[in-house]
Amino acid sequence: MSSDNKKNPVLHIPKIENGFVFDHIPAGLGPRVLEMLRSYTGLKDAVVTVGLNYRSGKLGSKDMLKIELLDLPDSFLHLIALIGPGITIKKIVGFEVVGKYPLELPEAIDNLARCRNPNCVTNTERHVPTRFERTGTGSRYRCSYCERVFDLKELELRLP
Ligand SMILES: [Zn+2]
Repeated sequence: MSSDNKKNPVLHIPKIENGFVFDHIPAGLGPRVLEMLRSYTGLKDAVVTVGLNYRSGKLGSKDMLKIELLDLPDSFLHLIALIGPGITIKKIVGFEVVGKYPLELPEAIDNLARCRNPNCVTNTERHVPTRFERTGTGSRYRCSYCERVFDLKELELRLP
């Protein structure tokens, strides 16, 4: 083993040829990201490598996940942003990083969360999709139907 590998344990995760790396996942959230990936329609058969508890200057420790896929749906990225804003996504093509961006909270959440208002039409009429719009720069979202405002923590996320 080279001394480089000792200094940077992240190198132990095998490189992928094409796909995406979810980096800077707060330690402990990696299994949740994996669970969402495994339950998400169309992604559950993808090849995934997960690393837990890597030392990271920024976070103390972090989890990391690599997925071999040519494309990821925006709605999945929104979902991951909702559970862990600040996670960095790197796109890998031919073993090289071709794009890198931090996941930010989406301006709208379409059909990924349930409204907490039992009288909301999205709860009384099953076929009505839910939609929440961000009310500012924080984590508060307004239901587009009943207009009640919720903090992200209050919303129960659900997979499409
Ligand atoms: Zn509502």
